[in-house]
Amino acid sequence: MTLRAYLDHNATTPMRPQAIAAMGEVMREVGNASSVHAFGRAMRAQVDRARTSIAALVGAAAADLVFTSGGTEANNTVLQAAGRRRLIASAVEHDSVRLAADGIVPAPVNGDGVIDLGALQRLLAASDEPALVSVMLANNETGVIQPVAAAARIAHAAGAVVHCDAVQAAGKLEIDMAALGADYLTVSAHKLGGPQGVGAIALRPGVAFAPMLRGGGQERGRRAGTENVAGIVGFGVAAKIALRELPRMAALAAWRDKMERSLAQLAPDAHVFGCGAARLPNTTCVAMPGVAATTQLMALDLAGIAVSAGAACSSGKVRPSHVLAAMGASDADCASALRISLGWTTQADDIERLVAAWGDLNRRLSPANRPAAA
Ligand code: PLP
Repeated sequence: MTLRAYLDHNATTPMRPQAIAAMGEVMREVGNASSVHAFGRAMRAQVDRARTSIAALVGAAAADLVFTSGGTEANNTVLQAAGRRRLIASAVEHDSVRLAADGIVPAPVNGDGVIDLGALQRLLAASDEPALVSVMLANNETGVIQPVAAAARIAHAAGAVVHCDAVQAAGKLEIDMAALGADYLTVSAHKLGGPQGVGAIALRPGVAFAPMLRGGGQERGRRAGTENVAGIVGFGVAAKIALRELPRMAALAAWRDKMERSLAQLAPDAHVFGCGAARLPNTTCVAMPGVAATTQLMALDLAGIAVSAGAACSSGKVRPSHVLAAMGASDADCASALRISLGWTTQADDIERLVAAWGDLNRRLSPANRPAAA
């Protein structure tokens, strides 16, 4: 079956054709970016060009960008590389942060999924040991944007260093890592129109960094291993386009808001998570009370519409979302939450089809529409 409406851009975004073309071109060439001959130097030039584009996307210096195999490696690396044994992370971080080390202390969030800055301050004050604080810029499930700059001020005042997972925010929000106060910031290519399997860590100049992968001098000795040149080139092209097209995000937000209004009209008992907070322009996490997310997902899939369940499905088991649970959502709300995420390929028609199919499902399955028992 051909999917006719792809509304799962937070899982992965279709690649930009220009990125595919650039990757195809570089893959026809030979050369190891570490070799000193002309073939190697040509590859090095490609990597450096991409490095400049990706650094520009997050307001970092090109020399302070370290390529990785994706957002997961980038996040895992930072939590080890900073050399801090005391780790504090917001309770809604992606698993690649939350589970990257033992003993990470969760900082609570409010009902909209925004970090509780007072609680963060208290956690930091509980010990003199210098910490690393990890606060994502935007959440992958709800799109909720965190007050990273404010959290960083509190963290720095307590002698902590700050990591910001900007994987979902990059390409959707303007990012300046210095203004955010981030010492480490992580991004991933496939969330912004580049290929899967490539990411990066942007570093504040001079910040501590102990490499996780050793055994080669690549990336200025900060990440050993022959560079994934094609992936990096695709990432660079996608980053350049994403930066240029940031102004188009306002139109996407208008579509998303209109979609949410339509869903609310169809099902007044439907709840949009994080709707009281600033959110990414493209993301909606909505519960249709009383209807399992897996049921909604499958019905929409049959209708040719791709979305995600708010509760992650792994190894055939659906487990409640730690993000929604941290926001205080009931088990029932968690179990019926759907994530709809728009992106650069989204058309007005995709949204109309989603609204129509979701409305149909709600009419047929929602307990609110069942006649009361006689
Ligand atoms: N961080 C966030 C917020 C994400 O949404 C994801 C992916 O879903 C990752 C990290 C991991 O990135 P990658 O898929 O490149 O490993």
